Amino acid sequence: MIFLDAAATTPVRREVLEAMWPYLTGDFGNPSSHHSLGESAAAALANARAGTAAALNCRPAEITFTSGGTEADNLAVKGMALARQAAEPGLNRVVISAVEHPAVEESARYLERFHGFAVDIVPVDGFGQVTPEALAAVLRPETALVSIMYANNEVGTVQPIRQLAGLCRDRGIPFHTDAVQAAGWLPLDTKLLGVDAMSISGHKLGAPKGNGALYVRSRTRVEPLLHGGGQERGRRSGTENVAGAVALATALGLVRPGQGFAVHVAALRDGFIREVLAGVPGAQLTGHPTDRLPSVASFCFPGTSGESVLLELERQGVVCSSGSACAAGSDAASPVLLAMGVPAEVAQTAVRFSFDAAVTAAELHEAAAAVRNAVGSVLTLGIR
Ligand code: PLP
Repeated sequence: MIFLDAAATTPVRREVLEAMWPYLTGDFGNPSSHHSLGESAAAALANARAGTAAALNCRPAEITFTSGGTEADNLAVKGMALARQAAEPGLNRVVISAVEHPAVEESARYLERFHGFAVDIVPVDGFGQVTPEALAAVLRPETALVSIMYANNEVGTVQPIRQLAGLCRDRGIPFHTDAVQAAGWLPLDTKLLGVDAMSISGHKLGAPKGNGALYVRSRTRVEPLLHGGGQERGRRSGTENVAGAVALATALGLVRPGQGFAVHVAALRDGFIREVLAGVPGAQLTGHPTDRLPSVASFCFPGTSGESVLLELERQGVVCSSGSACAAGSDAASPVLLAMGVPAEVAQTAVRFSFDAAVTAAELHEAAAAVRNAVGSVLTLGIR
């Protein structure tokens, strides 16, 4: 099987498993306990926090460990908007882009349904990018928070985060970015990016599912979503997932964004894109041609259905995704592609291929041939 669905999830890396193993077994203490096992767990957690902070170029106290990307996004969007509104009741608008993951979009909708916020959507261009002009046009004096993803999970388009964050900083509006897909591929330096908050998730990086982190710049107020024993400096109550935090920090330490392997994978991706476009008549690349994750190639195959192509590809030994795994099971056109101006009947023919750093040219060559065959069969048989 050729696994080309790394944007959905990745296997746990051996080094990560080895690093977390002691905290699942002999060193199983609760970091809040006042005995040696507890102290050892607390030390491991502090170490993981320092490692995560180093990868994000921030202070350890600015890291909150969460149960994953979804929780980090919820905490950022709801927690920061609610804290700002509590301090200044006139701040009652949140801005998100038209291509956010549901974890951000639904958090904003929750604020709208239950807390009287208005949600302003920044449109994207045909490549799925938010321009600084488009963002500036929706910012208002009442804007409490802006949340725009770093890289898109369906088409891989990378946003000009530094410029977008800078625009918000000039107006004193906090800026959050969902970096779940960017982590491992793009620089995560929070100072360089100029963001006030950033979400990451372990399972996209070779750590297990169910752990992630939210960076929040010092002195930024966040209303907690989980109340209880006051762990994570009161931001996220609940006994900490020590092994998960160790896993996340270890996985982050193993990736070196911007260095050779991302360039290498981007070159393989471009070769794959060329082969698919040359081999499949009518195939359309979706997302930005160059400002895209090294690890994502996404297409529409007009006249097919994404789900049928996916099934045919799996029969040929290639596993990928017909859109976002988070919306799996639905054959509806992707809202991301619709926001990019792709017609609905074309959008529902979308297929996403996403790689990990170990992908090879031979695998991608084989996969491109399988795509040609799969699309050919679907079109010949008229399966939809
Ligand atoms: N944000 C983006 C962009 C994602 O791609 C995902 C998962 O696919 C999430 C958030 C949610 O992360 P998690 O699966 O850790 O909850």
